Amino acid sequence: MSKNKDLDEIISKLDMKDFFQKLGVSFKAKKKASCFMCQDPEHLAVDIKTGVWHCHKCKEGGNAITAYAKAHNCSNGDAVKAIKSIVGWVDDTPPPRTNKNTSNKKTDKPQGEPDINNPTEKTSTETNKEPTQRDIAYSKNQLIYQRLVELLHLTDADREHLKKERGFTDSVIDELKFRSAGKYIKNIIESLKTEFTAQELVNSGVMLDVNGTHKVDDQLLQDKIIIPYLDKHGKVIHLRPHKLGFKGIPSQIYGEYFLREKPERIVLTEGEFKATALLS
Ligand SMILES: [Zn+2]
Repeated sequence: MSKNKDLDEIISKLDMKDFFQKLGVSFKAKKKASCFMCQDPEHLAVDIKTGVWHCHKCKEGGNAITAYAKAHNCSNGDAVKAIKSIVGWVDDTPPPRTNKNTSNKKTDKPQGEPDINNPTEKTSTETNKEPTQRDIAYSKNQLIYQRLVELLHLTDADREHLKKERGFTDSVIDELKFRSAGKYIKNIIESLKTEFTAQELVNSGVMLDVNGTHKVDDQLLQDKIIIPYLDKHGKVIHLRPHKLGFKGIPSQIYGEYFLREKPERIVLTEGEFKATALLS
């Protein structure tokens, strides 16, 4: 069976309406749905048979795979893997891990040319390494952390604390997106259940599975400052409540954002706040 045929079959197994709703789309009438890309309330048309979609407002469009990839900010290859797991698809012949180019698969396509019909195909400039389940879980965690930083705020008291006790300036505080933990986060994480599954929230560490019951990690409900870890583009990749850390999530390097301009000198510091002090 060809890869494209597999993909068609995998997509055909999706409950499209449910699939798009999980991406944040709400259906109002035929060809009138809210757009998960631009948030316009009614200019998205989704063919719930094929998964082909197009927004007449932001002009974005594609198929179920590109919808997933765009909504989750992942590659098409990762989207295919995620969709496979949604429909419970198991590959009957796993692709060879090595000697990819010498595999005896029949192809009439010249080597090195991207196949536009097949989003899993990698061009020669891309790495051959396939993303693992762990990579996908990791990018899902990042999406959860990004959403939390969008939804949380920094209290005036915490801002004053960072200025007085740590010597940070307002602009550095805003640039590094510090947030306040506190009881209010409980409702925010409950509301994230419309965007993520309980299991995804547990995997990211913001919720705990206590004997089958999901509860928000107490770390987030305490009077603490939450420190976002930013990548070199300023994107949130990790969160840490000050002096704590989510269960099951390995430690991360804090300073990636600070290295974006390739400084000649690098100073190693004991904690995140000491690193930040260097910027203030
Ligand atoms: Zn749109």
